[in-house]
Amino acid sequence: MLLEGKTGLIMGVANKRSIAWAIAQSTEKAGARLILTYQNERLGQNIEKLAPELNDPLLLPCDVSSDDEIDQLMSRIKDEVGGIDFLIHALAYAPREELSGRYADTTRDGFRIALDVSAYSLVATARRAAPLMEGREGSIVTLTYLGSERVVGGYNVMGVAKAALEASVRYLANDLGPDGIRVNAISAGPIKTLASSAVSGISSMVRQHTERAPLRKPTETGEVGDTALFLASPMSRGITGEILYVDGGYNILGV
Ligand code: NAD
Repeated sequence: MLLEGKTGLIMGVANKRSIAWAIAQSTEKAGARLILTYQNERLGQNIEKLAPELNDPLLLPCDVSSDDEIDQLMSRIKDEVGGIDFLIHALAYAPREELSGRYADTTRDGFRIALDVSAYSLVATARRAAPLMEGREGSIVTLTYLGSERVVGGYNVMGVAKAALEASVRYLANDLGPDGIRVNAISAGPIKTLASSAVSGISSMVRQHTERAPLRKPTETGEVGDTALFLASPMSRGITGEILYVDGGYNILGV
């Protein structure tokens, strides 16, 4: 029970296929008490249906494009739970039309929205979560993808947002480390989810990965969930500012 007595805030459950849902299952199995957030009322209804599969998680709304909503979330957690030991940031968004065709055609608005929701939101939530982690050796984990470092057709502005997210992991790790808070990212292989269905070519990404990755199989959400458990737990207490690949080894390949 690596997370016995710990409380975790998990942001990004949309449905059963969400990576955040697998992380909720892994961390709860390890003893954590969970707080789950949902982006809007519609997704809140999904989460309410899923919640009985967990042990009475606290469900709270939070659209990360609003500073007010993040403030309200953190203040409710402070009042109702006291503090948190780990934060899982498993969310991203770019307008669908930006996720096909040429990166060169990215609009100013598409760029702004993708970077705001997918990268700045980590900074905004980490800053406000840090005081709730005081004296608790906190851990913050976010989710990224190889498209931040290499060109992946169709991933476009999301790759640029993930590059900003990964750089933010390093800067936040340096800022929050003196308070005992670690910040890391998991770079997951392609998985079919609500968010990834917006990326044109996701099916062929999964197929190529299955054929070529050293482990010759698709990445499963449960593998990501268990790695998040490791990063949230004291087992990883010496690790911060890192990008950890959970992709069957795909990232090591050249041609
Ligand atoms: P998902 O659709 O299940 O989850 C994405 C979540 O982002 C949803 O819960 C959605 O509500 C949330 N979100 C979007 N905009 C938001 C906003 N403004 N405020 C609050 N929440 C918002 O998809 P997923 O694939 O599980 O994505 C989780 C994370 O994993 C994302 O960061 C994604 O980029 C990353 N990731 C996914 C893959 C993949 O292939 N699926 C691979 C690597 C990394």
